[in-house]
Amino acid sequence: KTNHISLSFDAISENEAFARMTAAMFMAQLNPTLDDVEDVKTAVSEAVTNAIIHGYEMGDDNISSGQADHQAAEEKSCPQVHMNCSYIGRELYIEISDSGVGIQDVAKAMEPLYTSKPQLDRSGMGFSFMEAFMDALTVTSEPGHGTTVKMKK
Ligand code: ATP
Ligand code: MG
Repeated sequence: KTNHISLSFDAISENEAFARMTAAMFMAQLNPTLDDVEDVKTAVSEAVTNAIIHGYEMGDDNISSGQADHQAAEEKSCPQVHMNCSYIGRELYIEISDSGVGIQDVAKAMEPLYTSKPQLDRSGMGFSFMEAFMDALTVTSEPGHGTTVKMKK
């Protein structure tokens, strides 16, 4: 059995919980263990947060919720985060992408404790959590064009 959903949403921190819960609801069709659901929710949360605060530099400590308001005022659309969830049999695939600034050095960004935003109390553990909680993680990025995170459970 296979299934697929696709979701696009404004890159604001309020939508992080929406994406996380949507992934959990979708995954529920596979009758997963609670532990597996928690792992996926954590990984989705980290990836979506990264897209919002790093990809678009929005939504953290109100740094740019002002920017979002400003854009709305100008009737421009808010930058979007995309989430694709699918399963094939019991294998779950989640893809989270943004069209933001991208990552210059993906290998370095994925190192535990590496963060480009230490001043925001970031711990640099997002990718490490995704790696630990999921069975596979692939990050592709093109500077100036965006980032895609693919995960499997
Ligand atoms: P934490 O997740 O612990 O709060 P963090 O977000 O800095 O801290 P990671 O999630 O591991 O740590 O990400 C490491 C670095 O990779 C980030 O500091 C950022 O520079 C870069 N990065 C991650 N995701 C993106 C993205 N979607 N777009 C641009 N840069 C990103
Ligand atoms: Mg992070």
